Amino acid sequence: MIKAIKGTKDILPENIGKWNFLESVVKKISLEFHYGEIRTPIFEETGLFSRGIGESSDIVSKEMYTFVDRSGTSITLKPEMTASVVRAYIEHSFDKQQSFKKYFYISPMFRQERPQAGRLRQFHQFGVEALGSNNFTLDAEVILMAYLILKEMGLNNLSVKINSLGVPESRENYKKILRSFLSDKFDGLSDDSKRRYDTNILRIFDSKDERDIQIMENAPHLIEYLDDDSLEHFENVKQILLKAGVPIEVDPILVRGLDYYTNTTFEITSGSVGTQTALCGGGRYNLLVKQLGGKDIPGVGFAAGMERILLACENENVLNLPGSTIDLYVVSINKNFGKEIFEIVCLLRGKGLSVEMDYQNRSVKAQMREANRLKASKVLMIGGDEYERGTAILKSMEDGEQKEISLSKLDKIIREG
Ligand code: AMP
Repeated sequence: MIKAIKGTKDILPENIGKWNFLESVVKKISLEFHYGEIRTPIFEETGLFSRGIGESSDIVSKEMYTFVDRSGTSITLKPEMTASVVRAYIEHSFDKQQSFKKYFYISPMFRQERPQAGRLRQFHQFGVEALGSNNFTLDAEVILMAYLILKEMGLNNLSVKINSLGVPESRENYKKILRSFLSDKFDGLSDDSKRRYDTNILRIFDSKDERDIQIMENAPHLIEYLDDDSLEHFENVKQILLKAGVPIEVDPILVRGLDYYTNTTFEITSGSVGTQTALCGGGRYNLLVKQLGGKDIPGVGFAAGMERILLACENENVLNLPGSTIDLYVVSINKNFGKEIFEIVCLLRGKGLSVEMDYQNRSVKAQMREANRLKASKVLMIGGDEYERGTAILKSMEDGEQKEISLSKLDKIIREG
């Protein structure tokens, strides 16, 4: 028996309602903020991600689904979207025209992580990327969008953490300070963090290892070493967000350990999802377009995990979506009426009504039970004696009232009740 790959999930019709709702909220808010939808291929050349995410990141070093195709090209299923969006922006020459573009996306992503609640191998993200401006309002805008989408989903137990990484020069200076702070504590670090000390020292702040956490408690923070412009940028972002009612908290250890990140970083976590608390993360990446071979174009964006958002909604019990219903169920009283009933059903479907019928030769009683289960507003019983007169019996499932109606006026009668 072949089963779905570990860490992947089927989304059945019974569960699709909440997905559609989340997607409709994402689309509505993206439209209000004038972000255009972008869809990029599900796989890309591996080099895009190793350059676009960073060789030392967990994603590139151990989580990508990479394979060599029949022509010998190394292909990777996309583990995140920013690199793909930036690739598309450059490929369509928007960088050369210095174009300002605002994109949103909804897409599956692939990472070979250890599956657990809120962590899958195929999962789904929505997100936004705004390219072509370093304006602080844009940093605030993307954070506000993420927050508004989560609020519109009904979520309450949210924390919005924000930090600034400044520009590479001040960050390089700070890395030296951090390195010297850690030099006499090196032996006490976890093996992973010992490695990060050389490759990506900021990421030691992300460690969940108790030894590292204890050591890093007294570490100096990057935010104390920001240059004046970055500090002013950060103050402006914070002011806009506070004025817009976003309950931000500055988190000086929120670092995105990659060199092309600049200025703002942020993360929204939920207290309602167990151990994998991050719903959404993002920030400014002014050096990425250039790193991927384009012109010097700034960018800012975020990515949000849809499974985790829906899990938080379930745990907070905030999604009260109406269940699915149909307008009409057609019950066949006479088993020989299949063709006539199918014709009538198609006619009504063509008029925009959602209509179901029996395909399994079931008894009238079983068909009525099915109509109930599908929450049909009305049932049409066809094939009794009245059929000779060109009529059928229409029953309202709300009050049980029955009337004989002419088949030629069906759609009008059903619509008007
Ligand atoms: P990242 O691209 O790593 O910054 O992740 C952005 C968001 O995607 C996270 O905050 C999570 O909500 C979600 N996410 C990341 N990895 C996974 C995963 N393996 N399974 C489910 N959701 C994920």
